[in-house]
Amino acid sequence: MSDRLPGFSTLAVHAGAQPDPTTGACATPIYQTTSFVFNDADHAASLFGLQAFGNIYTRIGNPTNAVLEERVAALEGGTAALAVASGHAAQVVVLQQLLQPGDEFIAARKLYGGSINQFTHAFKSFGWNVVWADPDDIASFERAVTPRTKAIFIESIANPAGSITDIEAISTVGRKAGVPLIVDNTLASPYLIRPIDHGADIVVHSLTKFLGGHGNSIGGIIVDAGTFDWSTGGKYPMLSEPRPEYHGIRLQETFGNFAFAIACRVLGLRDLGPALSPFNAFMILTGIETLPLRMQKHCDNAKAVAEFLAGHPAVAAVNYAGLASDKYNQLARKYAPKGAGAVFTFSLKGGYDAGVSLVSKLQLFSHLANVGDTRSLVIHPASTTHSQLDDAAKVKSGAGPDVVRLSIGIEDKEDLIADLEQALGT
Ligand SMILES: *Cc1c(COP(=O)(O)O)cnc(C)c1O
Repeated sequence: MSDRLPGFSTLAVHAGAQPDPTTGACATPIYQTTSFVFNDADHAASLFGLQAFGNIYTRIGNPTNAVLEERVAALEGGTAALAVASGHAAQVVVLQQLLQPGDEFIAARKLYGGSINQFTHAFKSFGWNVVWADPDDIASFERAVTPRTKAIFIESIANPAGSITDIEAISTVGRKAGVPLIVDNTLASPYLIRPIDHGADIVVHSLTKFLGGHGNSIGGIIVDAGTFDWSTGGKYPMLSEPRPEYHGIRLQETFGNFAFAIACRVLGLRDLGPALSPFNAFMILTGIETLPLRMQKHCDNAKAVAEFLAGHPAVAAVNYAGLASDKYNQLARKYAPKGAGAVFTFSLKGGYDAGVSLVSKLQLFSHLANVGDTRSLVIHPASTTHSQLDDAAKVKSGAGPDVVRLSIGIEDKEDLIADLEQALGT
């Protein structure tokens, strides 16, 4: 073997996987089992006491899921990862390790609609308070910091607006405040942006989107960058203090630069329970093998469609960071030089009614609430994903009444443009 480090496409196919030691199976098997037999009583005791790594029960870990975890950790440049049942589960598990009731976290206002809901309502019932900041105004993050702030949460490419976030600038705010930066990298995928290279301490994904990539399996993952010191100032007791459920061990002291991933597994996943099915892990692993090919095609198609829309008389504005004229083009060139992603919005001169009408006339685009599928998708956020927000909040999160969101698939771009052309009319 040469000492060359494997490139991204090689890691996407191979990282974490080996031929099955008993059967020689080359594709990663689906270990469809709830539990694993112990060698003997001592082995069982050491697994339960976290003195040895190994499989116990699929709620806590599974060999198929472990391959997925190693692969995504390698692609993101993290020390370890934990797969969970959905993107939303990843967010709950991460914040449970960081926040005590009454604590705060700062979140960018431009987020996936489901995350806005989760943070505003569900997390409030846990006593976790979200404080909103504007990702286009870095000073708004600084102003939001209080002694109770425990984390900052942003999206690398924001859903639905397709805007690019200045990860390095916000990471600097986090460093100064002594809190970790969590980046939801769902819309970019590590092929376009690796947030850890820009100062993120934790990366989360909805695997449901581009990583799985085929619109067939829900999943989520947490990647630990291994960069954050959890022991300072007693701010993160889950990581720094003795854990009564594990004979008083301190996770940071014992597990060092992958302590956060361990905490998410042995405190979060074990106790909250959102385990990923090994079958879904297998589907998502298969998807990841072609991530670099798909992602490039998604981006190239998206740019062609955005250019077509920008020249269409019925279109008021196109928000695609890959267009030279776009407000976020500078940030896109810096953070996502291979392409600005495949999810973006545009607005119609005809407003709300024109948005609803366009969606009903499109034939090749599927009208549904998802992104990051091989198929091209369309939705009118104001009447669906963001309908729960009031008008001002809709506009602030990039989902005003005249806005249509597209997720561009990997079909032939000429067919996508023809479908939009017939649906827009002339
Ligand atoms: C879909 C999505 C989520 C939530 O993921 P689920 O797998 O649906 O739970 C979180 N963040 C972003 C950016 C998403 O697109």
